[in-house]
Amino acid sequence: MVKEITVSGVRPTGKQHLGNYFGAVVNFVKMQEVFNGYFFVADYHSLTTHPKAADLHANVRQIIVEYLACGVDPNKCTLYLQSDVPQIPELYLIFNMFAYLGELERAATFKEKVRSQPENVNAGLLTYPVLMAVDIIIHRAAKVPVGKDQQQHLEMTRDFVTRFNNLYQVEYFPEPQAFNFDSNLVSIPSLDGEGKMSKSKGEQTCIYLTDEPEALRKKIMRATTDSGPTMPHSAKPIAVQNLFDLMKLVSPPETVSFFEEKYNDCSIRYGDMKKALAEDMIRFLTPIREKIVEVSSNEKLLTEIIGDGGSKARENATQTLKDVREIIGIKSF
Ligand code: AMP
Repeated sequence: MVKEITVSGVRPTGKQHLGNYFGAVVNFVKMQEVFNGYFFVADYHSLTTHPKAADLHANVRQIIVEYLACGVDPNKCTLYLQSDVPQIPELYLIFNMFAYLGELERAATFKEKVRSQPENVNAGLLTYPVLMAVDIIIHRAAKVPVGKDQQQHLEMTRDFVTRFNNLYQVEYFPEPQAFNFDSNLVSIPSLDGEGKMSKSKGEQTCIYLTDEPEALRKKIMRATTDSGPTMPHSAKPIAVQNLFDLMKLVSPPETVSFFEEKYNDCSIRYGDMKKALAEDMIRFLTPIREKIVEVSSNEKLLTEIIGDGGSKARENATQTLKDVREIIGIKSF
C-alpha cells in the first residue's frame, strides 16, 4: 500500500526538553511507521529572528542529533534541512504572488511578533505563512499534523493553493488537511510549578534530554511544592500535581500510587517523592543521553543522513517545480 505523505517541520531550537520529547519527538517517531513522512529542520524560518551564524548551525546539528537518538529513523522517513532544498525558496517566490498583504497582516502569529519584537518586523515575518505553505505543498502533502496554534497557517495554505489551482485551472496541489496524529495532546509541566515546560522560562525549570544525573537531581529537588496536605484526600495544588504528572511519565505505576496514598493520608514527604522521581528520571533519560553522545560523535553518519535526506527531498521538490513552471508558463529556450 502506498503510504500517505505528511510533512512536519521543527524549528532549530537546539537541545530538547521533556516537553519537546513527549509533545513532539515521540510523535515523529510514531508517524514514520504509518506515513511517508518528510521531517525537516526549518532553518530558513529561524532567520526571521536574526540568530548568530554559529548558534544557528549548532542548534540545527543538536536538534538532528537528538531526533536521531530518540528513534527518528532515516530508513523510514526523509529527514532534511529546509535550506538543502533550493526549490523551496523558488516556490516561495512564486507563491508570494498568491498571498495578499491584508491577510498576511491579519495572521495572529504576525500580530504577536509585531507586539513582541517591534524593533525587527521584517518582511520575512510577514510572509512566514507563505514559506510554511510551501514547506507542505513542495511535497504535495495532503495531511499535516498541526497543533492549534498552526491552524490559521494551514487555512492560509489552503487559500493559496485554491487560488493557484483556480487561476491556472488545474487540480495540481491538494488542499492539505490538519490531523492530530496523537489525540492525547500532552502538556508537560514546568518545574517551577507554573504552566508548561518551556526553554524561555529558564534552564532550571526544564529537564533536558542531555541533563547529567547530578543536574537532574538538583533541578528536581528544587522543584516547587508546598508545605503538604493537612486534610486527607484534599485537592492537589498545581505545583504538586505537576510533580505527580512528571512521575507518571517515567516512574512505575506502583511508585505513583505509593505517593498518591501518602498524599491522601497526609504523610507525604516531598523530599522522598522528589528523590524517587529524580532516580526514575535518570533511569529514563540515561539511554537517551548516551545515544545523543554516540550520534553526536559520528560526523560521518550525520553527513550521510542529512545528505541522503536532502537528495530525497530535492527529488520530490524538483518534480513539483518542473510541473509548476510548466503550469505557469515558464519555459526554457
Ligand atoms: P518549541 O521549541 O517550544 O517551539 O516546541 C517545539 C514543540 O515541542 C511544540 O510544537 C510542542 O509540540 C512541543 N512542546 C514544547 N513544550 C511542550 C510542553 N511543555 N508540553 C508538551 N509539548 C511541548
